[in-house]
Amino acid sequence: MTTRVAMSEVTKRYFDGSQRLVAVDSVSLELGAGMLVALRGPSGSGKTTLLGLAGGLITPTAGDVSIAGKSVVHMRDHHRTRWRREHVGFVFQELALIARMTLLENVLLPWAPLGGASQAAQKRAAELLERFGLADKAQTRVEKLSGGERQRGALARALITGANVLLLDEPTAHVDADNAERMIATLAELRDEGTTILASTHDPRLAEHEAVDRVLSLTAGKLPTRSD
Ligand code: ADP
Ligand code: MG
Repeated sequence: MTTRVAMSEVTKRYFDGSQRLVAVDSVSLELGAGMLVALRGPSGSGKTTLLGLAGGLITPTAGDVSIAGKSVVHMRDHHRTRWRREHVGFVFQELALIARMTLLENVLLPWAPLGGASQAAQKRAAELLERFGLADKAQTRVEKLSGGERQRGALARALITGANVLLLDEPTAHVDADNAERMIATLAELRDEGTTILASTHDPRLAEHEAVDRVLSLTAGKLPTRSD
């Protein structure tokens, strides 16, 4: 198995005034190529924090995280940012699209800090929009798009740099049955092409879907120790 993301005894504590809270508690996890993994758990169980840790967005309090074979915990910030951009795509729960920009501008945003989109990137953006049924929306401002269109647009943006690890936070939370099914089918296709996908969810439509290869259940920041 090609390990794309490896977490080793990763803990994240938040210090909130005098309160100390363990959001993720000594989690070890390996994600291989071509896997669609659902991360299940109730609200507050640490799903969003775990995604942030797995993608190098959140620095752990303890433990190690490797992405594409390199520990990102001790990398310098600019290094980690670049490494992450190259290897990991995020779809945040609130999508983080910029409402007043066009869909195409949003999809190309990850290239902005790298000096702008090359012709190859522009071609890839057009291909992704086409693939996700959004070709005719490229010049539409995001504020005019439907929920399902925004979601697929956020997915296109997550894939624009060619990342082969995709992390999604509750990707079916606010969509109807058709859009949920379409999103899951798209994730399964990407998985079949070799993408590593970790999707947090408390939606049984996703967690219990036959396309899912593995379900991880998070309880108060802990995963059960693997027995298989
Ligand atoms: P989930 O996504 O499963 O709802 P989260 O990872 O968002 O869980 O949160 C796990 C726990 O960590 C919760 O108790 C939450 O309140 C707390 N938490 C999350 N982010 C922060 C933060 N930035 N500062 C302090 N506490 C946080
Ligand atoms: Mg969450």
